[in-house]
Amino acid sequence: MAGMTARDPDPRSASDPGPDRVVGPDRVVGLAAARRSLEGLALGDAFGERWFPLFREPRRAYDEIAARETPAESEWLWTDDTAMALAIHRVLDECGVIDQDRLALAFALAFEADPGRGYGYGMHMLLPALLAEPESWRTLAAGLFDGGGSLGNGAAMRVAPLGARFAADLDLVAEQAARSAEVTHAHPQGIAGAVAVAVAAALSVRCELTVAAVAEATPKGPVRDGLARAAELPFATEPRAAAGLLGSGSRIRADDTVPFAVWTAVRHRDDLTAALWATAEGGGDTDTTCAITGGIVAARTGTDAVPAIWRARREPLG
Ligand SMILES: [Mg+2]
Repeated sequence: MAGMTARDPDPRSASDPGPDRVVGPDRVVGLAAARRSLEGLALGDAFGERWFPLFREPRRAYDEIAARETPAESEWLWTDDTAMALAIHRVLDECGVIDQDRLALAFALAFEADPGRGYGYGMHMLLPALLAEPESWRTLAAGLFDGGGSLGNGAAMRVAPLGARFAADLDLVAEQAARSAEVTHAHPQGIAGAVAVAVAAALSVRCELTVAAVAEATPKGPVRDGLARAAELPFATEPRAAAGLLGSGSRIRADDTVPFAVWTAVRHRDDLTAALWATAEGGGDTDTTCAITGGIVAARTGTDAVPAIWRARREPLG
């Protein structure tokens, strides 16, 4: 995006980064993009959740998605993806950048307020402990899953609005995405998934979004390898076939979730409605894949063009 290069001329150290690393007009543009992304993330999350077996058996979900039938329920509740994205959003509003102890507490408070939002196993282990001692994320997150840390898709699902906010500075996007991930996802691939999605959202804002560009900005490893495969996959490929090749979150890992969600976002980067239908077609962890895709695409498009009934049915952000 032209002119989006301003940085604080006197950046502080990573341990005391200070507020407002993006300043001036870039900050205003970033805040508007972050809000659009957050709305799209929540819409994707709530829309994607409708296709789980809890609400309709898989054959019916498949048929309704193929027929583009809007889910009939009058209220589409969002899940942990949005709860955690809201926590990041608030910490960035308050601090300007990711203060990891504040973020740990914000995640813990969100969990305590409503633990039934579909959090994964690791978060049920971690977040109650962080409520009493937020700074203990440093040891507890690294200790999850036999000491490897989580490589799940949870850090990726919540991060698109962060990438949109800092779109003026792609290095800052990657740094802040990693910091947001580390609080819960210590495994390098959990972090890589967050970096990939945040960069994708930033590139969306800048009208520079390609799968190859996202892959190039992603740390080495399986997430990047999956994105590299996605970059070679023609957009004429049916989404269900693409999901079969790339994964669509059935293992709830970053590397089997992020490449497909980024691919559908780029395939429909100007059309949020089409992007969400295509992502739902891939099946798997549909609230998460649709949250990722929605957050990336809406960072640029906003949600105004989706059917009004979708916006009316999605649970408000509060
Ligand atoms: Mg969820």
